[in-house]
Amino acid sequence: MAFEGLGERLQSTFDHMKSRGKVTDEDVKAMMREVRLALLEADVNYKVVKQFVNSVKDRATGQEVMKSLTPGQQVVKVVSEELTQLMGGEQAEIAKAAKGPTVVMMVGLQGAGKTTTSAKIANYLRKNKNRQPLMAAADVYRPAAIDQLETLGRQLNMPVFSLGTEADPVDIAKQSLAKAKEEHYDYLFIDTAGRLHVDDSLMDELQRMKEAVNPDEIMLVVDSMTGQDAVNVAESFNEQLGITGVTLTKLDGDTRGGAALSVKSVTDKPIKFAGTGEKIDAIEPFHPERMASRILGMGDMLSLIEKAQTDVDEDKAKELEKKMRSQDLTFDDFLEQLGQVRNMGSMEDIMSMIPGAGKMKGLKNAQMDDSQITRVEAIVRSMTREERQQPSLMNASRKRRIAKGSGTTIQDVNRLLKQFEDMKKMMKQMTSQQKGKKKGNFSM
Ligand code: GDP
Repeated sequence: MAFEGLGERLQSTFDHMKSRGKVTDEDVKAMMREVRLALLEADVNYKVVKQFVNSVKDRATGQEVMKSLTPGQQVVKVVSEELTQLMGGEQAEIAKAAKGPTVVMMVGLQGAGKTTTSAKIANYLRKNKNRQPLMAAADVYRPAAIDQLETLGRQLNMPVFSLGTEADPVDIAKQSLAKAKEEHYDYLFIDTAGRLHVDDSLMDELQRMKEAVNPDEIMLVVDSMTGQDAVNVAESFNEQLGITGVTLTKLDGDTRGGAALSVKSVTDKPIKFAGTGEKIDAIEPFHPERMASRILGMGDMLSLIEKAQTDVDEDKAKELEKKMRSQDLTFDDFLEQLGQVRNMGSMEDIMSMIPGAGKMKGLKNAQMDDSQITRVEAIVRSMTREERQQPSLMNASRKRRIAKGSGTTIQDVNRLLKQFEDMKKMMKQMTSQQKGKKKGNFSM
């Protein structure tokens, strides 16, 4: 996965920082030296690194004191916020035309993933935003590109406009737009031709197409595996054509991640989507904040601490923490915690915020969506008091009774018991990591 090396390096730099009660300017300097090296090694553009390090230094040394965090945690928070800023700050949505079809020109070098990404984003918008997309095959130079888009269209049951390989790409774009208007499609994705390198004839064609269809979005697709090249490509496309957004593909690959960290600041155009695999649904909106916390490998620890402090009843949190440490967590605690979790956001959000949780095996089983929480509550409520206090009592006939009482199945009950065990194990790991540290509510 992308960022592994960078993540590991930054994490080890931060590990002994987080618990510090006092941080001197020297500490910050030493840490920033490590951060600078880690970023350079991850292939982040050197100008970007310099800027980044300076703004972190400025903010970290002149920090206003936040009562809820230790100074060490505050420095980490600054780095995490700056990383988020570096990647664009807020999540940027794909354009939406005020009227008529939103026209998206998909551009980029050959092999970057334009054709695949056109279908992925179109499918994403149909599935999640209820939009009706039309795709147009305007890459006439690579004959396989048209077949590929048509195959994807058939797989997704999504229309593809094509005039074969003989037509002029600008005509294809114009005619597909006419069709999209006439048939009231919400989005038109034009898959344009790529080249192995940026060249004048490619840019010329794309410029003519741009003039002809007046796109709402010019989405540059870049292969994050190509590192600094991806950044140079983004810079040229932006200068010569004017892009409006970027999709980074192949973030699932073994990339050092530098492209993701540099593209936004070099082009000043937001990264809107990230491709994370070959499958059609391997695409996600790019969230700078989540990416930053993933890179720092701490989940979104600090916002969890903040959230915990504002949303969770402090006494209860302390009590829970004590139980976590002694590991005699019961289903009553679990139930109560679910209630609090509901106040805090979805289970998935919470899990993603727990440091190290992303790496933990068996966590998939522990993840729940909100409808599952309702079911889980029903199951726990069908347990007797003894069963809630002593989960080890559970046997086949008890499980049958609980399933019946909660309107679920024995499999559901078994799954919950497994999740409960996983959660206990996870807490054991988390609390043993924490042993000896005095600070920190909620056992973070
Ligand atoms: P185009 O020439 O820009 O249209 O590129 P394609 O859409 O044909 O993609 C080139 C190759 O990259 C194909 O084999 C895709 O399956 C693959 N690909 C595209 N996006 C991703 C991604 O996010 N992850 C992975 N692993 N492969 C991808």
